[in-house]
Amino acid sequence: MELSRRQWRALEAICDTFAPGANGAPSASQAGVPQVLIDAVARNPREAEQKQVAQLLSLWDTRVLTALGGGGFDRFSELPPERREQVLLSWCDSRLSQRRAAFQALRKGALLFYYMVPGENGSRSPVWDTIGYAGPLGKNENAPPKAIEVHDVSGDTTLECDVCVIGSGAGGGTAAGVLAAAGLDVVVLEAGDYYDDADFDGGEFEGYGRMYMYGGGAATHDQSVGLLAGSCLGGGTTVNYTTSFRTPDDVREEWASHGVPAFATDEYGASLDAVCERLGVNQEHNRESMREQVLHRGLSDLGWHVDSMPRNVRGCDQGENCGYCGYGCRLGAKQSTVKTWLADAHAAGTRILVKTHAEKVLVDGGAARGVDARTAAGHRVRVRARAVVAACGAIQTPALLRRSGLKNENIGRHLRLHPATVIWGVFDEEVRPWEGTMQAIYSDEHRFMDGGYGVKYETAAIHPSLLVTFSPWRSGREHARMMEALPHSVPVGVLLRDRGGGEVRTGRDGNPVVKYRLSDYDVGHMRKGTDGAAQILEAAGAQKIFSSHSRTVSYEPGRNGSRDQFMRDADACGWDAGHCTYGSFHIMGSARMGGSPAMSACNPKGETWDVRDLYVCDGSAFPTASGVNPMISIESIAHMNASALAASLT
Ligand SMILES: Cc1cc2nc3c(=O)[nH]c(=O)nc-3n(C[C@H](O)[C@H](O)[C@H](O)COP(=O)(O)OP(=O)(O)OC[C@H]3O[C@@H](n4cnc5c(N)ncnc54)[C@H](O)[C@@H]3O)c2cc1C
Ligand code: SF4
Repeated sequence: MELSRRQWRALEAICDTFAPGANGAPSASQAGVPQVLIDAVARNPREAEQKQVAQLLSLWDTRVLTALGGGGFDRFSELPPERREQVLLSWCDSRLSQRRAAFQALRKGALLFYYMVPGENGSRSPVWDTIGYAGPLGKNENAPPKAIEVHDVSGDTTLECDVCVIGSGAGGGTAAGVLAAAGLDVVVLEAGDYYDDADFDGGEFEGYGRMYMYGGGAATHDQSVGLLAGSCLGGGTTVNYTTSFRTPDDVREEWASHGVPAFATDEYGASLDAVCERLGVNQEHNRESMREQVLHRGLSDLGWHVDSMPRNVRGCDQGENCGYCGYGCRLGAKQSTVKTWLADAHAAGTRILVKTHAEKVLVDGGAARGVDARTAAGHRVRVRARAVVAACGAIQTPALLRRSGLKNENIGRHLRLHPATVIWGVFDEEVRPWEGTMQAIYSDEHRFMDGGYGVKYETAAIHPSLLVTFSPWRSGREHARMMEALPHSVPVGVLLRDRGGGEVRTGRDGNPVVKYRLSDYDVGHMRKGTDGAAQILEAAGAQKIFSSHSRTVSYEPGRNGSRDQFMRDADACGWDAGHCTYGSFHIMGSARMGGSPAMSACNPKGETWDVRDLYVCDGSAFPTASGVNPMISIESIAHMNASALAASLT
């Protein structure tokens, strides 16, 4: 993407206002952030969004735009730093949601890259020294060679098989393993690349860039919720945090009431058992990191629920080697689909294609008969099959179905995100929150606020990117101080089971556009969860507590302010788009199973109502939010539906 001189000037000035550099650290433009940022924009598959960025940068450094932002009649790039900050804050606090969205996109873009990009030639970034961050672990030289040999495509190709599975994550990987075990000839198409133990070094920049959807930069259309999803062989299971909850009984009953009785029967129960067995789910790898000792202390002091986390690991180190799970496990301990179902499928002869993007499902006579795809190198791949499994994740699957001509009005609707926010505690003690077991404990104290709806409290290893994402920016200096406190910061994640939903629409270019707004009902629960998380941190002895709002909402227990004031400040800032930061790690429900085409996109076997022999086997299939981290539920649905499909084809 080529920028004019005026656009460059604007971008550099914006980046340097967010991150001017302190304590010997370079400014954002000295660290090369504008170039990296624009490279990331250029990789956005939606051309309309690229154009929006270019237009904003064209206008940014004009006198009119600065005046609109309260900066007087000078150009933004000519203003002193404090006045540039005022202009940015006018966007942050604007009554117009589009301006708040633009601010959030710029804030995240500039600051994330500032704290993630390594130094010259991949060396240690000087920025990490200023915040006391250990940085990446480096590669594991003793890692074994890759176990899967991917099917190479070096020209336009046609393949024949029984079932073509699109996507290799929790759903697709499991479906492939089950179908192959039944003796079927399976082809897996995966848009991302294959990375394994020897490729992982714990670096954030490469980790997001290589293995996450849109390099980790996906968000809802108004930036209200950041969307994190894996995009590599294994999908989310390669980068996720190994938390492995079975679908709770109350959720199984609720799903059965949507017209899928199997959820409440032994049929689904057997699939849950089979998945947990294959993934080695256990509660014996739960050594608490320093940040989890803090969480435990707070929960115990309050007398609240706390339990050890079930995890899909074998031989997990749980020590200094850990905490970098989100960028792949260097030790091969995480039981991703690459290590389990895909390995089984590969051993049974399944052909696995990576860097191959499915464009549409081929429909003939009302039935799925194959897939048209294209490799990253531009080669066409046509797969002819007796059935197709769509498992691209709950953002991409509805877009694929629409591109393939399916019309059911529920495709894309009922999207659930488990929006999560973070409440931060700063402690006297050093906790090095990026280290140790990913998630060893959790609390369900407020899981049942209203029927099955409420929040879970979980923590996770925190690297600079998560602190940047979930912290306010009010000035370059204040933000730098917040980042310097990273080694002493403990996050309590508030994970909401959302009752209201959003929607995945499909743009004219065939790409998904995600719309989502937190309902008033869900805001009530998020609010109570925020208060609960602050209570936990206060009980654990935090010196300072702050939220993920766009204004600084904070207090110092026993010294300055109170929790009541904290909550009043949070309410005054607001809970909607651009006022409070939310992230989604759990994307579900956008092509849901159900008892009728009026209510759902797929029938009780996961087959689309519109097209025979086309099955949805991923997070899209959930009738409602799972209320627990969804991997095991997704794999179990895929296991159940793929088992029935295999029986019908053999
Ligand atoms: C950072 C992170 C941490 C998480 N931690 C946990 C956890 O600890 N426990 C838990 O239960 N859940 C966790 N989750 C969520 C869980 O990993 C996901 O819900 C799950 O992986 C989703 O499964 P899926 O099959 O729906 O899609 P995915 O696993 O996302 O797989 C979809 C795959 O399809 C590919 N694809 C997309 N479009 C196409 C196309 N057109 N053609 C070909 N391929 C395509 C993608 O590249 C991707 O690899 C986490 C998620 C993230 C991002
Ligand atoms: S916690 Fe560490 S060893 Fe365990 S799965 Fe994650 S990265 Fe691997």
